[in-house]
Amino acid sequence: MEIEKKDIRALTKEKLRDFFVDNGDKAFRGNQVYEWLWSKGAHSFEDMTNVSKETRAMLERNFVINHIKVDKMQKSEDGTVKNAVRLHDGLLVESVLIPTETRTTACVSSQVGCSLDCNFCATAKLKRMRNLNPDEIYDQVAAIDKESRLYHNRPLSNIVFMGMGEPLMNYPNVMKAIEKITSDEGLGMSPKRITVSTSGVTKMIKKLADDEVKFKLAVSLHSAVEEIRNKIMPFTKNFPLTELREALEYWYAKTKSRVTYEYVVWKGINDDKKSIDALVKFCKYVPCKVNLIEYNPIDDGEFQQASEESINAYISALEKADIVVKVRRSRGKDIDAACGQLANKDAE
Ligand code: SAH
Repeated sequence: MEIEKKDIRALTKEKLRDFFVDNGDKAFRGNQVYEWLWSKGAHSFEDMTNVSKETRAMLERNFVINHIKVDKMQKSEDGTVKNAVRLHDGLLVESVLIPTETRTTACVSSQVGCSLDCNFCATAKLKRMRNLNPDEIYDQVAAIDKESRLYHNRPLSNIVFMGMGEPLMNYPNVMKAIEKITSDEGLGMSPKRITVSTSGVTKMIKKLADDEVKFKLAVSLHSAVEEIRNKIMPFTKNFPLTELREALEYWYAKTKSRVTYEYVVWKGINDDKKSIDALVKFCKYVPCKVNLIEYNPIDDGEFQQASEESINAYISALEKADIVVKVRRSRGKDIDAACGQLANKDAE
């Protein structure tokens, strides 16, 4: 009878060392293999050239390496690259490489589909299929790092968890992936260059603070008026703005790290004075900055980008209140790689 082989990358370094000792080899062999699996990104046991043939065959008998596979790569006119990533069980997620003059940012997914139900987001139309494993998250980053070196002659500089899914609904795996990304045995990246974005899962924001994480936090706010927020992001009925405020105050007290609010202005939804005043007021609670994101239409006609005047009204009100505000133009729109457009549209 064929026994189901385990994914070797689900083992910690200690477990891998134990495995070799239990099989009559040296613990050191575990370090070697671990290095192949992570910092050297080996896709097969064959690749592990400083490991004996017998050992490789023994590993082959016991384990598989569940590596992601970039199925399809699309390049935008503006240099943005979207990867359709095939997982070991056949499911797909997407991740994006966003180059600017000075940096390369990876936008990675944390779930297949999404747990939440934001009405303006294409990913939310796919129901959540499953959480990504730590190695599936790590692999997306490693793949983009490779692409960055290949196309831009420089390593990846930043990571944003703004792809498919709600990272804080897959908390342990996202944390494990970030641990690996920032460790010297992984990619050795600074946590300061990583941003985790949440739609506002308040309990988990507090947990991040308790865990004293060193990465940055972004919150997709979109409205500081309860009724509007509840309407466009129905799940927020369970996470009222007062709770969000309290969680963010807790976050700031513990981490002293400024929060970024992501905010899209839509015609007839949040382009009125009441919405602007509410945002300015909300921004006073904790040190923050606001990114006004351009809306990327998702073909359902319900939401439309607000006028230039409305955006300017937001900018002047925020600036008048000494709040840092930036307008973020979308990248990769022509290949459906922009915020909220990731929905495996071209990949099936
Ligand atoms: N679930 C997390 C991670 C996804 S980040 C979160 O919501 O923060 C994706 C960002 O793109 C979020 O700020 C989201 O609100 C925004 N977004 C979703 N759909 C969009 C659209 N159609 N146009 C512009 N931004 C969108």
